[in-house]
Amino acid sequence: MDIKINKEVCIGCGTCAAICPDVFKIGADAKAEVIAGDYSGKEGLIQQAKDACSVQAIEVGD
Ligand code: SF4
Repeated sequence: MDIKINKEVCIGCGTCAAICPDVFKIGADAKAEVIAGDYSGKEGLIQQAKDACSVQAIEVGD
């Protein structure tokens, strides 16, 4: 699973990190970043975070 944050559009609201803190966090630049790791079993929460992002900054690929 390939997860990317478009930092050009991320507004650092923290919603993704609140929904799925194992995968998303707010970094030192006050934008979301993806925590490296095993995403198995977290696909549903990752999708929820993607859907909840008001600026569509989360890109999820295979
Ligand atoms: S929900 Fe979207 S805008 Fe908010 S911190 Fe996450 S990626 Fe950025």
